Parts: sequence; structure tokens; C-alpha cells
Amino acid sequence: MSSDLNKPASLIGTSPDIRIAQFEDGWLVGAAHQRSPFYNDRPQSNAGCVSLIVVHNISLPHRQFGTGYVDQLFLGQLDCSAHASFADLVGVEVSSHFLIRRSGEVCQFVSADKRAWHAGVSEYVGRDNCNDFSIGIELEGADDVPYEPPQYQQLAVLCAALMGEYPSIEPGAVTGHSDIAPGRKTDPGPVFDWSYFRQLLATELGIKSEG
Ligand SMILES: [Zn+2]
Repeated sequence: MSSDLNKPASLIGTSPDIRIAQFEDGWLVGAAHQRSPFYNDRPQSNAGCVSLIVVHNISLPHRQFGTGYVDQLFLGQLDCSAHASFADLVGVEVSSHFLIRRSGEVCQFVSADKRAWHAGVSEYVGRDNCNDFSIGIELEGADDVPYEPPQYQQLAVLCAALMGEYPSIEPGAVTGHSDIAPGRKTDPGPVFDWSYFRQLLATELGIKSEG
């Protein structure tokens, strides 16, 4: 690992460098942890082998950021009377492994070893029930609001770290919710710049392999 890579330092939580990222029982050391009650075990079979990363977006209310309501939703603590648009969320039990805020801060809600409830009815390359074998990463955002540069950077850093920890995730196995649930889901939306993200990820993986 050389020091002349001219690359911004990782911003993840308090972790000094994601290239030496560590996971403890599926929890990323250095990220903010809030434990969602909405998870279960992955299947005890190949179907449960973690091999996919799913990128989402979320904002509550829609297109409003930094409200804290997303955290409350994933923690089962959302007061659905707090905003008219939350009426649809009564009784909804959803979670994601990770949330990347507009600032780039990474928060984790479910151990990556466990099965979070982010994908719903879904299919990836002929395999359904993507929650069984995937890791969900929510970007705080909306389909038509450009993401912040620190979110792209952190997403790439986080994906590279996850690929180090879960080697069955191939570098190309990062997909959008809209790709595994077409017609039902639209996130991360047309504003998500996949080619830019893949460039950043390749850089992270290249750096990683030099380490
Ligand atoms: Zn989604």
C-alpha cells in the first residue's frame, strides 16, 4: 500500500482507511451501527451465499434529506402520523444493511452475515429472492436528484470492502434495485451514474489488490 496514490482518504465513519476495513460478525468496524429488528438468517444453502450488492435510494419524505425518518423506518420506530406521505408505511417492515447519507456517512442497520429486507420480490440472473444472497446499500436520495460525490466515493469504498470480506461477490455483481425488480422499482434512478461508479470501484479494487 503506497502513500502516493493521491486519493482522498476514506470518509467511512471513524475508520482510518477502508483498505484495511474489518468486519466483526458482519458489522463494518468504524461505521455507525444501529440495529434494525428487521432481519433474519440467510438460508443454510448455497442460496444464502453472499454474492450480490443491490443499490437503492430512499428519502423520507420524498426528496427531503437528513430528516432522520429513514433511520426510524429501518429501526421500526417511525411515527407514521408524522407526515401525510407516511400513511403507506404503516406496518411496513423493511431494512437495509447500509445507508450512505448525503454527507457520505455510512450507517449500518443489519449484519452483512444476516438477511436484511430490502429487495422484496426480485430476480438476478435467474435467481429469485435476492434478499437471500445480497447486501443492500441505500443511498439517501431520490431518482431525479443527483447524488453527492462523497456518496459515490463511499459506495465504491464500501463495495470494495465487502468484496474483500465476501469473495463470492464478483466485481460486476453490483446492481440496482430497478434491475432486479423491473416494473416495480425504479431506484437508484436514472441520475445514478453507473459508469462513474464502476470507475471508482475499479480504482478501489486496484488499490486493494496492491495492498
Ligand atoms: Zn430499493
